[in-house]
Amino acid sequence: MILRARMVVPVSGAPIPDGAVVVHGNTITAVGTFAEIRAEHSGEVTDLGERLLMPGLVNAHCHLDYTMLRRAIQPQRSFTEWVGRINALKRSLGPDDYRAAIVRGFAESRRWGTTSIANIESFAELMLDMPASPLRTWWFLEMIDVRHQVPSEEVSSGMLAFFEPCDARRGGFGLSPHAPYTASGPLYESVSESAAKLDMPVMTHVAESREEWEMFRHGRGELYEFMLRVGRWMEDCQHGNTPLRHLFHHTPFGARWILAHMNELDDSDFTLLASIPRHERPSIVHCPGSHRYFRHAPFRLAKLLELRMNICLGTDSLASTHSLSMFDEMRILADREQWLNPADVVAMATLHGARALNLNAGKIEPGALADLIAIPHDATMRDVHAAVIANRQPVAWMMIDGQILAH
Ligand SMILES: [Zn+2]
Repeated sequence: MILRARMVVPVSGAPIPDGAVVVHGNTITAVGTFAEIRAEHSGEVTDLGERLLMPGLVNAHCHLDYTMLRRAIQPQRSFTEWVGRINALKRSLGPDDYRAAIVRGFAESRRWGTTSIANIESFAELMLDMPASPLRTWWFLEMIDVRHQVPSEEVSSGMLAFFEPCDARRGGFGLSPHAPYTASGPLYESVSESAAKLDMPVMTHVAESREEWEMFRHGRGELYEFMLRVGRWMEDCQHGNTPLRHLFHHTPFGARWILAHMNELDDSDFTLLASIPRHERPSIVHCPGSHRYFRHAPFRLAKLLELRMNICLGTDSLASTHSLSMFDEMRILADREQWLNPADVVAMATLHGARALNLNAGKIEPGALADLIAIPHDATMRDVHAAVIANRQPVAWMMIDGQILAH
């Protein structure tokens, strides 16, 4: 199949006016100008007309369980208060609410051009009876052991028994120890072992809030007091570690790790990241809308890019942002970090997210998976990538795994 469009944005290369993409099965086999492609390939042409064809967007961090909580929690005085509010709301919700929320979350993600999504699933039992996803979906099983620690053999055998009957179709499974303040060092260690054995990615929240920083670095603060009250073992907060160093002490994370947020980092954290060989470094997910909602400290993007970390973007949940549109996330980031090259912003929402998931996608080049979207082409904007970021139209045409999705 040959797809032709007014503009092709490969992400891994320069935009191509009057471009074309050849798709064979689920794979892209060629990309170029329409004239070049036509000269070398026969086959049916689907002309997308005045549209821009680009890789589908990759949402590298979200919690679709909470799609019903849009605007349900006003920004609170502190992160800890927000945790209290969401925990209270969750008491009134059941499995059917969460299942419906996930279905709505898929629909909204698809409407805004997301073809791959890394979803943290807090309710393991839902994963066994999940509606089929129209998107390439990674289910990251959330794990918390605040009150009692689970022996590591139990974690590994539990994981195996759990994942065997599940069917991920076009995506996959991952493990997600929630955060250093809710998951113990031994849990991180056993997750790390199991993930290596099962060849799975690991996602965790780390250094998200100032309160988490205070808890580990100084053994005090609102989150510290809250976790103490719920019965957490607090000994590990007495060593003066940063949250990132605390985590690394238990689990030297590798390339399959995805660290969400990373808002609170100091020089020792940057030294630590720099000391990890480049091919073993974790990916980092930044969630611009959620970051703005919580009014976190400025995200140290320039410094992380200087270290050549793989930075991708996610929406986080609708309990702390207003939309599941990755176009919104790109816009919030581009507005705040005006020095950023628009092409790099688009790469964070496509190629870098795919890289974090070990997926050969997020780009238009031979060999990549045919996950593509088409949006209206605005010829009035000189910078094609800035035009992508500015898109406010729902995505009417989408291909996943070489299949065009019907509306
Ligand atoms: Zn999250």
